[in-house]
Amino acid sequence: MRKFALVGNPNSGKTTLFNSLTGSTAHVGNWPGVTVDKKVGVYKKASEQVEIVDLPGIYSLSPYTSEEVISRNYILDEKPECVINIVDVTNLERNLYLTTQIMEIDVPVVVALNMMDMLERQGDKIDEKQLEKRLGVPVIKISAFKSEGLDELMDRAIEFSKNDRKGVSVLEGGELEHLIGDVRIALEGQGVDNSLFHAVKLVENDEIEMQMHPQTVKMVDDFKKTFDSEVFGSDIDALVADARYKHISKYYSPLLVRSNKGIKFSKSDKADRVLTNKWVGIPIFLVILFGIFHLTFSENFLWLGSIFNLPTIESLNLPDTFWTSLLACVYDGVIYSPGVILFNLMELLTSTLFEYLGGLIESLGASSWVIGLFNDGIFAGLGGILSFIPQIVFLLLLISILEDSGYMARVAFILDKLFRKFGVSGRAFIPMIMGFGCSVPAMINTRTLADDREKIMTLRVIPFFTCGAKVPILVAVAGAIVSACGFGNADIITYSMYVLGLAVAVISIILMRSTTQKGEIAPFIMELPAYHAPSFKNLMIHMWDKAKHYIEKAFTIILFSTILIWFLSNFGWDWKMCEIDSSILASIGKFMQPIFTPLGFGSQLGTYGWVFVVAAITGLIAKENVIATFATLAGCIGATLIATEDGAFEVAEIIRYIASDINVSAYSLWPAMISFIVFNMTTIPCFASVATARGELKKGTAKWTILFWVLTSYMTSTIVYLVLSWWWTSFIVIGIAILSAICIKIHNKRAKVK
Ligand code: GDP
Ligand code: MG
Repeated sequence: MRKFALVGNPNSGKTTLFNSLTGSTAHVGNWPGVTVDKKVGVYKKASEQVEIVDLPGIYSLSPYTSEEVISRNYILDEKPECVINIVDVTNLERNLYLTTQIMEIDVPVVVALNMMDMLERQGDKIDEKQLEKRLGVPVIKISAFKSEGLDELMDRAIEFSKNDRKGVSVLEGGELEHLIGDVRIALEGQGVDNSLFHAVKLVENDEIEMQMHPQTVKMVDDFKKTFDSEVFGSDIDALVADARYKHISKYYSPLLVRSNKGIKFSKSDKADRVLTNKWVGIPIFLVILFGIFHLTFSENFLWLGSIFNLPTIESLNLPDTFWTSLLACVYDGVIYSPGVILFNLMELLTSTLFEYLGGLIESLGASSWVIGLFNDGIFAGLGGILSFIPQIVFLLLLISILEDSGYMARVAFILDKLFRKFGVSGRAFIPMIMGFGCSVPAMINTRTLADDREKIMTLRVIPFFTCGAKVPILVAVAGAIVSACGFGNADIITYSMYVLGLAVAVISIILMRSTTQKGEIAPFIMELPAYHAPSFKNLMIHMWDKAKHYIEKAFTIILFSTILIWFLSNFGWDWKMCEIDSSILASIGKFMQPIFTPLGFGSQLGTYGWVFVVAAITGLIAKENVIATFATLAGCIGATLIATEDGAFEVAEIIRYIASDINVSAYSLWPAMISFIVFNMTTIPCFASVATARGELKKGTAKWTILFWVLTSYMTSTIVYLVLSWWWTSFIVIGIAILSAICIKIHNKRAKVK
């Protein structure tokens, strides 16, 4: 099969084109640096199938960051039959800068002029025929977004890829050309492939190149000496870049005829004057963020329930029908937010379905342990997870809208100044915000950070950006705190937990910067992409991807864990069924219980406190396990001990039961429950992210990173529990914090003196 590679600047539309050509669903975002690894798909519409590879965006073939190296090496080593160079026509000069470098490689190149729809909307025109003549390779106008011109692009690329092509350079005339020519001949003598490309890079003093051909470096230096040394000073790479840009502005730029519209401030610029404003930029962002949480989590949408005195469903005395349950999903004296409505609907659906299936199993005359396994184990666990999927996906949809519109890139920009005070650049914000979705892609995205220390710190704090899988813990435990303990308000608890996560991230970065990760903060350069309405297709792709991810997890790892937990909690060490209290799981949980005493959910919770311990530990595998474990265990405990009316408030039931068991009011348990949430939010997120961290970091660093998560969660939860239980301990905490800060300062001063 033929193999074509998509190469171009970040944000030029490569992934959009890739998705259109191959029907894939890769992540498209309106900011540079979304694709950080190569992706492969197949184009099937032509007479022969073509393998298409989407590569991370690059500005130049002299890369700085590890994901840029991927692109360069791919073109040179994997030898695709054709390089499709995507050029964003609205940024012609800068995009062609890369083109002039790709042209130096001995590979067929086809230039796809993308974003033609935008160009035409601005009323600008480009003479692509002439550009084709001057470049010497096919040039095709396309719009990846609207899938226009793609067939022509592929037809010509297939045609063009049938013949070999020799690299050509725009670095012509003068001593530069001579020097490159000399080096090239020498490399050819050594049998080096792509001699022109390597010659140019060697002349540029490109770092990777100099490591690859160490013997030749000396020779190149000798060549340089034979020329006027003034010309080839230390800044030779700047000289080469300048020559490229001169060529571009002389021969290519005039082919783009701009209408006068472009001179006026575009709508994007106008919006940016407000959205990236020094004073209101950050407050606007916080309001938008709160809006998102309100839409997703609030049980009192727009405070309508408080403004109008609406009747509760109970007071309406409706008949107990399906329609009443449906109404109860939307309304109960208050109007629920869309996220909560989605949750309620899905819960209604799954509980109806599982009730039916449970009845079916019973009617088949299954033995009692099988009924127990299905009803209290599998159905309870799965139901607990599946009900949350629409709500999680809705939250991620809202975040995707901000990403795809181009707003998130602005936020990175306005936060840069603030982030610098803490010790990272604004660039780190993007992987961090991806952490709200899932830690794994977020951690992979840290590849876009050029600075190693910044990368380590960002990767470490990503779990503190509450990922989608943690949403059920927040919602269920916060809900239980409200309903069982009678404390607070669910969406405020949820929001404060998110904010606490951010605070932990900031404090950790400050601490790391002043101890193990000292160093300069990398400069932050990122072009701001133009705003545009998010594409419906992209949003659907995002949503489906996320939903699929959670469903897959629910039916694999979570299902397996729930079955295991059911068995461990129904069988004793003698492998006979027994009361939950003498089960294998209970004895393991009870053994570990004292470890969690300082955090508030250890030994002090008495006989059934181990439920929280077990939930927290299974959560280390995947965070959905926490809720699945509660659901299963509440089913088991409920079946033997408590008469639960419905399975809806598993956590609340457990809290009530524990409170009566240890003879305290349920209210007094809220600090422990908050501490439980905090522990789950700040600890090892899941096995998948541990594996990712190990892949992204060096061995030693990965080990420390895991230890860092364990320690941070343990200490943060302890502090939260202490302060919430006895407010005056906050003075002790503040005292210790100040003391530690002073110690670090003194230590750093001493280290400097040495
Ligand atoms: P990549 O970084 O090169 O992979 O670029 P993406 O495919 O992620 O696209 C970057 C942004 O440009 C996204 O917001 C796309 O929706 C948008 N985009 C891509 N192609 C076009 C196009 O032809 N026209 C317009 N107007 N926008 C496009
Ligand atoms: Mg991409």
